Amino acid sequence: MEVKKNKITKPKKHSKIAKCPICKNKSINEFSPFCSKKCSDLDLMKWLSDENYINLNE
Ligand SMILES: [Zn+2]
Repeated sequence: MEVKKNKITKPKKHSKIAKCPICKNKSINEFSPFCSKKCSDLDLMKWLSDENYINLNE
């Protein structure tokens, strides 16, 4: 006879599912936290343009 020990708990999902901040696709380790090199490059370009923007502002 089997005794069910398991309490009823909500299934726990991994709280940290990495998502690509650019396109919200699942991130890939190789390009973490991005999903592809393309998104990684896009983010880098965003960074650079942000810096340019700040520099222009001053
Ligand atoms: Zn992406």
